[in-house]
Amino acid sequence: MPTPWPRAILHVDLDAFYTSVHQRDDPSLRGKPVAVAGASKRAVVMGASYEARAFGVRSAMPLFEAQQLCPELVVVRPASARYREASRAVHGIFRRFAAPEKIEGVALDEAYIDVTARTRHGTATPEDIARQVKFMVRNEVHLTASIGAAVGKVVAKVASGSRKPDGLVVVPPDTEADFMGPLPVGVLPGVGPKTEERLRLLGIRRIGDLAEYDTQRLVQALGTSAAVLQKLAQGKDRAPVDGSRPPKTISAEVTFETDVSDRERIEEAVKDLTARLTDRLREAGVKAKTVYVKVKLPDFRLVSRQVSRTSATDDADVIFRAARSALEKSHLESRPVRLIGVGLSGLEHPQPELQMSLFD
Ligand SMILES: [Mg+2]
Repeated sequence: MPTPWPRAILHVDLDAFYTSVHQRDDPSLRGKPVAVAGASKRAVVMGASYEARAFGVRSAMPLFEAQQLCPELVVVRPASARYREASRAVHGIFRRFAAPEKIEGVALDEAYIDVTARTRHGTATPEDIARQVKFMVRNEVHLTASIGAAVGKVVAKVASGSRKPDGLVVVPPDTEADFMGPLPVGVLPGVGPKTEERLRLLGIRRIGDLAEYDTQRLVQALGTSAAVLQKLAQGKDRAPVDGSRPPKTISAEVTFETDVSDRERIEEAVKDLTARLTDRLREAGVKAKTVYVKVKLPDFRLVSRQVSRTSATDDADVIFRAARSALEKSHLESRPVRLIGVGLSGLEHPQPELQMSLFD
């Protein structure tokens, strides 16, 4: 008899979200390589359609580079309001299957849903629920979603990413090691290209290698955070899905393919990041008081500076200006930059406006 599911978690990820919204709304874009990017020549690709990805176009790539790879690339401007609307519609579908506090939005196009209660009360399996969610998203929002179902969030996320687009991958309890073991370590959340390279030097290529590696040697080579990674590789992940508390901080970052010392390009990346963060801020219904910028130098040193405002805001321009002054405070001069991140903290729900007219 198969092991019962102690918890059932779905990770839902809309496929090529930004460009899919454009292709959905404008039939002339369908079947074409499309990228979403800002207006500047130094803009960075925010999203690429599968047709564009076939040419090697990727998110976070400088637009000029994407256009070299794919000369017929169709570039469209971000349409934040339509992304938010699609995301809201999809979350409306999620709420048919779980209470709001069991739905944790990670980004506009990505969420965890704890459907354990559903699988207990009815006869629906996690797979049934995932199929229904996919069907409703396709039918009502006209987008495709990839879903992973597992006992833990990390395995569910790896599963949803393993068969995109329009995938459905179910990892039943006690089969996590079989599923994760053969996959490259780079698909684990938290393993970037640099960590992947350091793991490779230890002979670790697959998640199974990491799961079985001697913990002490691993921590000696990579630091204590590697022990956490190893637990994830072993499928040991008990983190709850929690949509009830507002996020403490939200952040986004981009790693440049080659180190960048061009101020304008760095500022352009900061602008793209703040635009993305503002979307997430509005989606969460909160405003931010503090904006910080984190810069990683080629020697992996981190420089972080922040700017706080007296009142919280969700205005993209205000946030960008604050991020730019935080960037100036980091005194980079002409030093090259490997990674740039922007974060928002001091998040709060806006105060209800006073109804002054009542007193008139
Ligand atoms: Mg996605």
